[in-house]
Amino acid sequence: MRDKYEPVIGLEIHAQLKTESKIFCGCATRFGDEPNSNTCPVCLGLPGALPALNRQVVEKAALAALALNLKINGESIFSRKNYFYPDLPKGYQISQYDRPFSERGWVEIPSAERNEFGAATEWKVKRFGITRLHIEEDAGKSLHEGMPESASRSYVDLNRSGVPLAEIVSEPDFRSSWEAFDYVQYVRRTLLYVGVCDGNMEEGSLRCDANVSVRLRGAEKFGTRVEVKNLNSFRFLQHALEYEIDRQIAALEAGEPIVQETRLWNERVSRTYSMRSKEEAHDYRYFPEPDLPPLTVSESQIASARDALPELPEARRLRFIREYALSFDDAAQLTDSRPTADFFEAAARASGNAKAASNWLLNELVRELKNSGGDLAQSPVSPESLGEMIRLIDSGSISGKMGKDVLVEMYKTGRAAPDVVKEMGGGQVSDESEIRALVDQAVAANPKQLENYRAGKTALFGFFVGQVMKLSGGRANPQLVNSLLKQALGEQGGNES
Ligand SMILES: [Zn+2]
Repeated sequence: MRDKYEPVIGLEIHAQLKTESKIFCGCATRFGDEPNSNTCPVCLGLPGALPALNRQVVEKAALAALALNLKINGESIFSRKNYFYPDLPKGYQISQYDRPFSERGWVEIPSAERNEFGAATEWKVKRFGITRLHIEEDAGKSLHEGMPESASRSYVDLNRSGVPLAEIVSEPDFRSSWEAFDYVQYVRRTLLYVGVCDGNMEEGSLRCDANVSVRLRGAEKFGTRVEVKNLNSFRFLQHALEYEIDRQIAALEAGEPIVQETRLWNERVSRTYSMRSKEEAHDYRYFPEPDLPPLTVSESQIASARDALPELPEARRLRFIREYALSFDDAAQLTDSRPTADFFEAAARASGNAKAASNWLLNELVRELKNSGGDLAQSPVSPESLGEMIRLIDSGSISGKMGKDVLVEMYKTGRAAPDVVKEMGGGQVSDESEIRALVDQAVAANPKQLENYRAGKTALFGFFVGQVMKLSGGRANPQLVNSLLKQALGEQGGNES
């Protein structure tokens, strides 16, 4: 039944721009402070207080816009969006309406449907349009829980009031919940890469609303759309979209109309429920903000923002595949955050072996970080010292197996690989006569096993390897041990068939 229909999804992302102070006053934007401690007449909306635009907000918005391929307008206008709500003391929000900061952007990113275990099926590069990115102030926050008299009243915290936001509105280009998921992840990653948003969804620095409708596959016209709010994690977004698509299809199949409305996602009961009928733009009585001049951005400001842009995650992922011959998955993991990608490139340079740098970083080092709850920025193992360790392996000084122990010790003590190796009793032994002596010793010390081996229990070969490794303190070159042991057991009449 679901195949008969096609979902159409558009997304609005509200990203908090990472500035020290608010958009129209000097109050701090810090999260977690005492309620209403970061407020002043401007962000409290007291009569007569005048807003003054924070230039930092414009610089950050410009970086975000360029990273999403949006065209920045030379002149944009702030508008008042009028509505009443307890967390909005002015009775209006300063936003942008008919002349936004930037328009007509796009991203081209890999997206995939997921199977029942959540694993990606086939990655395909898709292009999603971005209608606009505009600048606005955030409202305050109503607190319904956790206060002394929460049972009988609600409280308002205006610390968020006037925090700068970029609202990023997509085209209705998504045809599945996973496409929406992949897009929001990419936008978040990009904003983090360019350093304009901390991306913390739990603290509300990145929020997402979705417009969802369904139509018969092949139909031209969009169905009636429903706005779903409260999607403050990637999981919620994907769950809510799936639920809403199913709900709308079931309604259409039953001959019921879809009501244009705003619904909230409740993760606890895994469903959306109606919050209010959806407003139209004209309900907000937008008009130009009389207290602020038009916002102008010059060509040279745009050019310097463009110069300040780092390499973006998707471009970097493609380059990693091309330049270092990495797999799609490894390149995607390495470019997931800028610190990881930077660490990898430094380790690849230091080791001269990109493939090994990728493996050691994504497997061994990431495991150590996970176990100790640390993050890469504070890793006691620098990219240079990881590179040095890899060089010891590549030159045969230590085995790959020893490398794992060496890395654990490097992580624990912050010391360099050669020091750790020395302390562990030296590097790998690759001297043939030295190993042959150990092999002879191991064979002579275990006559019983030798007899069984000769009688056809060839699985005992592993036992002898273990004995030799033990005698060498784990330092014998494993390939040499294998070949010399084969010789020795063979010479003594071992039957390997
Ligand atoms: Zn203020």
